[in-house]
This record gives sequence, structure tokens and C-alpha cells, in this order.
Amino acid sequence: MRRLKIIYDRERCRGLGMCAAIAPHQFRMKGKKAVLVRGKRTPRTGEYSTILTVPAAESERIVKSGMACPVNAIRVIDMDTRKSLVQTRIVTHGAKRIDADAARPKDFVMDRKGYLLIRVDRDHGLIEVGLCRRKNQVDVIITGRNPTDIYYTILKKKLLSRFEHAAYIGKETQKAHTALQLGIEYVQDAPLDFSKNVKT
Ligand code: SF4
Repeated sequence: MRRLKIIYDRERCRGLGMCAAIAPHQFRMKGKKAVLVRGKRTPRTGEYSTILTVPAAESERIVKSGMACPVNAIRVIDMDTRKSLVQTRIVTHGAKRIDADAARPKDFVMDRKGYLLIRVDRDHGLIEVGLCRRKNQVDVIITGRNPTDIYYTILKKKLLSRFEHAAYIGKETQKAHTALQLGIEYVQDAPLDFSKNVKT
């Protein structure tokens, strides 16, 4: 058994739901925010906290839920050692700094699984991604309303084989999403032009 303190900062929560999916005994979703199930509010900080004694498996779930929170809203402390198992403060001291190299065309490597064609379907508010295994032959079409759904689907179905291709699909689908939201034109591989609205 392990004695843990969970501290949850409701102000920071963006309601993405990872904590409740990973540790449903500790977190549940209420409207657009998570709730720490047995949490008590500290008036001074506005944070919610609870101390519990849990078996190893639950302790692992609690730590994972804190690690998964993308906005550092969950802190976990081991009460026996007083060690922070999940900290919310970002520490850069001692980090190695690397300046990004300029991407060069000669570094480009074709994905053996194919290439992607991306466009927006304005009538239905959808982003459409076509996978071509041969030149101009679309074999699979993935549609979705937001970049996250699309790239998770592409990764789950193992439609890509290269990291840079996965990064590329994230960048392009986010551009397509922004174009849809703002009513501007989306052209794959071209920068967005925020000055021109699409005629409807
Ligand atoms: S994972 Fe973080 S942001 Fe997402 S619901 Fe939980 S506390 Fe909120």
C-alpha cells in the first residue's frame, strides 16, 4: 500500500479528460472540468487535495493520470518519503539547448506506406485526408472534425511509417482546421493567407 497526496488545480484544467479515463476512482468529469473525487478545497490556494492509502496498481494509475495531464493540473506526492511523484513546476535548469537545423529538401525521405492529400470539405465542416499508395491513386480517405481525431486514427491504423510524416500530418491538419474555423482558403503545403476569406 502507498500513501499519496493528490493536489488538483481546477483553474488550470482544460477538461481534456485523460485523468478521468486513466484513474476513474479519483477523477471524474463534470461539465468542462475534472473533479477530484474526495478532494477538499484549500481556500488559500484554491486547489483541491486529498490524501489516500492505495494499493500499488491504483497508485500507478494516479501517477499516470498526473503524468498525462497536458496542463500540469495534477500533482502527486508520496506521503511516506515526501517525494514528488508528479510535479507541476517546469524545470529547465540543466537542459541541453539545441538550435533547430533548417529543413533541407535532400533530407526528405518518402514514406514507404504512401503519401497524403489533404483538403477541407467546407459544406460539412470536415477535414479530409487521402492516403495514396501509388501516384494520384487515393486508397484510403480519413475524415474528421479536428486534427487530433485524424492523427490518432492514422496512427492507430498504422497508415504511416515515419516520424516526420506524422509530424507533417499534425501540422497540415491543424492548418486545415484553422482555415475551416476562420473561413479562409486551405492549400496543402502553402502558408495560410489570413487576409482573404473564402467566397461562399
Ligand atoms: S487531464 Fe488535466 S486537463 Fe485533462 S481533465 Fe484531467 S486535470 Fe483537466
